[in-house]
Amino acid sequence: NLVITDLHVSFGAFKILKGVSLEVGRGEVVVLLGPSGSGKTTLLRAIAGLEAPQLGSIRIDEKVLFQGDRRLDVPAEKRDLGLVFQSYALWPHRSVFDNVAYGLKLRGVDKLEIATRTHDALKELGLSGLAERFPHQLSGGQQQRVAIARALVYKPPVLLLDEPLSNLDAKLRDEAKAWLRSLIVDLQLSAVMVTHDQAEAMALADRIILLSDGNVVQEDTPVGIYNNPANIFSAEFFGTNN
Ligand code: ATP
Repeated sequence: NLVITDLHVSFGAFKILKGVSLEVGRGEVVVLLGPSGSGKTTLLRAIAGLEAPQLGSIRIDEKVLFQGDRRLDVPAEKRDLGLVFQSYALWPHRSVFDNVAYGLKLRGVDKLEIATRTHDALKELGLSGLAERFPHQLSGGQQQRVAIARALVYKPPVLLLDEPLSNLDAKLRDEAKAWLRSLIVDLQLSAVMVTHDQAEAMALADRIILLSDGNVVQEDTPVGIYNNPANIFSAEFFGTNN
């Protein structure tokens, strides 16, 4: 499980996360919702090791990634987390295969294993026939699958997704919700996803965490949170379509 305890992140004098705790089990999707500026992306980046918290801890099972009081901070490239951001940021001049394989090459994995793992990841995402294409020869939905294959090629226990579906049109997004969810369950990943789209949160989340101004305001199942908003903030957030 991914376990985050009392995480504090500040930028200079600005406190952005003010003691956030959450736990994500294997095969579980936790969606972070909240107004713009509430700290969703900062939380994801802190888990990935791209922001340095001042306090708190982050661990995956027994492996400690960050512990403020013991000053332990595993660098981002050693955390082995799968990351997918809104802009898929594929390398335009590399083939699909090379886009997915690149991180393994950087890590010095041997050639045969790179080939096996890359083909496995492509197959998992239904991309086997497209390995030799270049990003501009793919549809938006296919590019997004490549980005996810690239994140999963490390076989990470944790998948972090920041608005991964927002560049897709409505039909592709509906399809993506379904396969993304079954992929997470099949591979028993712990997934944390940021979205602005409440319908997407309803469809994908096992649990929703509502953030406001760097604090967790409510945490519940999608049905629970809609039926029983914990306070006025929560009720107003879900009552509007932001
Ligand atoms: P959005 O929904 O708009 O993406 P968010 O909930 O993801 O918002 P964050 O991106 O986490 O919010 O930003 C939280 C706050 O931290 C914002 O006020 C932002 O301006 C500030 N912030 C983010 N990154 C930095 C940085 N590197 N330096 C200073 N302030 C930052």
